[in-house]
Amino acid sequence: MQMLWCWRCKSEMPMLDDDEYRQVMSYSGTGHDGDKRRFESMLAEYERITGFRETNPNVVFHHRLSAYGKPCLYCGKPLRTPQAKLCGNCMKPVPS
Ligand SMILES: [Zn+2]
Ligand SMILES: [Zn+2]
Repeated sequence: MQMLWCWRCKSEMPMLDDDEYRQVMSYSGTGHDGDKRRFESMLAEYERITGFRETNPNVVFHHRLSAYGKPCLYCGKPLRTPQAKLCGNCMKPVPS
């Protein structure tokens, strides 16, 4: 787990590494939306790992460290994807 700026939540959020993400997702079942109880165990596992009480499953789905890029050289916010050519925050190009 690592705290990282999330551009979707617009704040520092606990992000899961790949192993933790897999662990949490193993509680989410096979993706039947609206199955509240299944999401509850997923959210409980997210809380166990991060110590952060999250109530929205959609938030947990995008809190995966490997989905984000390196910190922007200009503003320090993580790039929105590892392949980003442009910083989504300050719109400066990413030097290659
Ligand atoms: Zn987020
Ligand atoms: Zn930037």
